Amino acid sequence: MKLLIRGGRVIDPGSAVDGRRDVLIEDGRIAAVAPVIEAGDARIIEAAGLIVAPGFIDLHVHLREPGQEHKETIETGTRAAAAGGFTSVCAMPNTNPVNDRPEITRMILARAAEKAVVHVFPIAALTAGLRGAELADMAALAEAGAAAFSDDGRCIQNAGLMRRAMETARSLGRPVVDHCEDVSLAGPGIMHEGPRAARFGLPGIPAAAEDVMVARDAILAEASRAPVHIAHLSTAGAVRIVREAKRRGVAITAEATPHHLILTDAALESKDPRFKMNPPLRSEEDVEALLEAVADGTIDVLATDHAPHTAAEKAAGIAAAPFGIVGLETAVPLLLDKLVHTGRISLARFIALWSTRPAEIFGLKGKGRLTAGADADLTLLDPDRPVVIDSGSFRSKSRNTPFDGWSLKGCAVRTIVGGRPIFPEEQP
Ligand SMILES: [Zn+2]
Repeated sequence: MKLLIRGGRVIDPGSAVDGRRDVLIEDGRIAAVAPVIEAGDARIIEAAGLIVAPGFIDLHVHLREPGQEHKETIETGTRAAAAGGFTSVCAMPNTNPVNDRPEITRMILARAAEKAVVHVFPIAALTAGLRGAELADMAALAEAGAAAFSDDGRCIQNAGLMRRAMETARSLGRPVVDHCEDVSLAGPGIMHEGPRAARFGLPGIPAAAEDVMVARDAILAEASRAPVHIAHLSTAGAVRIVREAKRRGVAITAEATPHHLILTDAALESKDPRFKMNPPLRSEEDVEALLEAVADGTIDVLATDHAPHTAAEKAAGIAAAPFGIVGLETAVPLLLDKLVHTGRISLARFIALWSTRPAEIFGLKGKGRLTAGADADLTLLDPDRPVVIDSGSFRSKSRNTPFDGWSLKGCAVRTIVGGRPIFPEEQP
């Protein structure tokens, strides 16, 4: 099957291309990128007025399968990803059973081969059962197809164990992804610790709970020369630590989510559980530090932390509701509007944050580039199209978003995976 994407503005930060180009796709790969390509017998997709980018990659997604299929499945989660402009997602291991054994990794990959509409890269657990006590068989997990390792949501508290985890990951050529949270500091907190938590009468999670662990990981990454990727950075202190470590050449990278870049702890005044996430929404100063870090390269990637929960679970009230929000179908419009249209970052930087850098950090071969021979995963953007977030139209099984009804500018309008246009959905 041949496909010609004609007349779009191709932005491929990895090869420093930004200009009007045609893109020819053949047999699932990019065959050519040039100012004018003859269509021949290829199907033509007109892209005039659109941005043509390497497929977007979300390094931080909870697909919930196996075990919590009432919240999301590999099928619905990847359909949501495609609708949001993503061509690859990396699936966190806190499923049931946990992805801590090669059989589970292989089962997820087999299920994805059958049901997924975008690429699924499993992230395997660092420790058995995410219990933080003994390392999983990381070599067998890597062999089975784990792209990275993480105990996401259950940060390893023991520094000696984390050191061994990093050393093992390094020997396997895989990054460790860490949700940085010292549980002795976080305690039973619900929202960011500060004047607002005191005023709203809700228990706080101090910024120090994150900062202490980011500092520990930076120190361990330097000592072990192992790459560590900090998930969902949320505090000004953590930004400072990552920036300083990078300056000294430590192999540390970091991500930020749309919600931490847009919302603050002021939203918790409503006690609406849709604003309950972990790490929590922080102060204005923290948000400003994150925005600067996205612009100056301290933050390498954007990621959604897509965390589906049912309406019933989220209706349990602020204290009992689970942490987290869905993000796959809102991330691109939110950040085109709040990062690009506000002049915080360029379109090229936006694309690098969603494709070039995620592919590099996880070592995803053939991804994150629009050059001849690369996988034909593409995201087409209309940066000026007005959109209204409507959770009722989500492909995701869950609708737990605080952004319902928001009017934004810009979105993904077409998603192509392995040379096949998969969004908008086409009749076979
Ligand atoms: Zn997390």
